[in-house]
Amino acid sequence: MTEHSKEDRYQQRQQKIKAQVDARIDQANIERGQILVITGNGKGKSTAGFGVITRATGHGQRCAVAQFIKGNWACGERNLLSQHGVPFYVMATGFTWETQNKDSDTQAAQVVWQNCKQLLTDESIDVVLLDEMTYMVNFGYIDLEELCQALSQRPAHQSVVITGRACHRRLLEIADTVSEVKNVKHGFEAGLKARQGIDW
Ligand code: ATP
Ligand code: MG
Repeated sequence: MTEHSKEDRYQQRQQKIKAQVDARIDQANIERGQILVITGNGKGKSTAGFGVITRATGHGQRCAVAQFIKGNWACGERNLLSQHGVPFYVMATGFTWETQNKDSDTQAAQVVWQNCKQLLTDESIDVVLLDEMTYMVNFGYIDLEELCQALSQRPAHQSVVITGRACHRRLLEIADTVSEVKNVKHGFEAGLKARQGIDW
């Protein structure tokens, strides 16, 4: 095949792909806030959630973050984003597997949840990250029905990102976009210590 005909075939193929992509872009014309779930056993769920908050903040949108479970841990994203006006609502008792007290954990989750409920009615907020929310539902600290109701009644333009493993089926159903991060391997299994800038 000559160089010329190779080039022609390449162009034809690219044009076909472009036509298909353009047709699909034309079909996606609903504009509203979205619910995104990032779940699964692999690393990268919270990183992705914070990525959305960073992206939206970069466009001048107003964002807020609720952190369940690892509240009192250091957090690079919190250091950065709070300097850019993003409020953080952090679960006071922090790491729940250490406290092992259902009543105090429930209470701590409920304090943050009250803030979340307010965020989910606030017209001025564009994107909310509910980091590690899936565990709050699975442990029974936050009522699933109440969460679903708050999500469905939120302002139409507001988007919400939910992260955490083992996301409840109901949340998967009401979400617009669900991504599952698969664990292929993790350095921790080979003895690598959690690292600043990589893990927190
Ligand atoms: P990250 O915050 O790095 O995006 P994540 O939100 O997907 O991770 P979590 O379940 O919230 O994962 O756990 C957070 C911590 O646990 C991080 O330090 C992360 O590196 C570590 N971690 C995540 N997945 C795994 C895994 N499959 N094996 C071991 N450690 C993991
Ligand atoms: Mg996480």
